[in-house]
Amino acid sequence: MKDSTLRDILINYERKRDKADRALEQRKNDVYNQIPKIKEIDDEINKVGLEMMKLVLKNPAKREELCLESKNKINELQNQKQQLLNQYEVPKWYLDLQYECNMCKDRGFLANGKKCNCLKQALINESYKMSNLSRMLEKQNQSTYNDSIFSEEIDPKNGISPRQNMQLILSICDDFIYNFDKDDDRNLLFYGDTGLGKTFMSNYIAKSLLDKGYLVIYQTAFKMFEIIEEYKFRNSDNHISRNDYENLFECDLLIIDDLGTELTNSFTLSELFIILNTRLLNGKKTIISTNNKPAQLGELYSQRIFSRIFDKFQMIEFIGKDLRWENKIANMKK
Ligand SMILES: [Zn+2]
Repeated sequence: MKDSTLRDILINYERKRDKADRALEQRKNDVYNQIPKIKEIDDEINKVGLEMMKLVLKNPAKREELCLESKNKINELQNQKQQLLNQYEVPKWYLDLQYECNMCKDRGFLANGKKCNCLKQALINESYKMSNLSRMLEKQNQSTYNDSIFSEEIDPKNGISPRQNMQLILSICDDFIYNFDKDDDRNLLFYGDTGLGKTFMSNYIAKSLLDKGYLVIYQTAFKMFEIIEEYKFRNSDNHISRNDYENLFECDLLIIDDLGTELTNSFTLSELFIILNTRLLNGKKTIISTNNKPAQLGELYSQRIFSRIFDKFQMIEFIGKDLRWENKIANMKK
């Protein structure tokens, strides 16, 4: 996560604390208007405190005695105040600061310097927004995984049914998620025809990692090259385009969807190479999803340059019939 994002979130915390202060001030004034005697008591408490300080300055030797005396007075006044508040049935919390998070009092950090859960959640929410996945993931997440939509019929070419294959892929993906922190050069390349569950699996991994607090960026290859062009040729000073560009290198997981559908030329080839190679060197992981077979990708992306990179990708084939059509037909029958 970028420093600027954390800074924005912390500014938001500051606003929350200001809001809490103002709300308390307002509630206090409410009480003063309803029960003027409370205001008198509060004023009196302040006066006792101030007088005590003056007297201590004059008679430093009597400090303890004076402190005790005013402390007793203040306790007395506070008891009176509490009785009045009870009498008028003012709720206990009404004259306390009310934070959104009581754990960190809207500071984001706990007394021991660790991030509060509310800050962790805010960072996750921010990652979700940046990932381009929020809307898609609302519809499709782990709870909607249902492997009965995959056929049990053995695919003669692969000797395995699409459902068995999907279960195998799921366990590979779970393992990828579980070992995500390991610097093991493990990247995934999903290939197979459209509608066999590649996007579903990408989203499954993305959601699991976003929820653990990683920054995951999802881009179609087409959009990714658009971002690069925008940054390099049009508007490199633009904050948003620079951010989008840098995220391709810096995010914890980059998911490139639909690789091979974009127009390849020497520019896209070298940019793709730079991104993938830099990520590999920095131990950052990538998932590529494509409708092409690995051999076709090799042709598209000049085998010689990419073989070393694609060596670091585990090739995972999705098999079966287009699920989207089967689902549509199933829905039509209902
Ligand atoms: Zn908190």
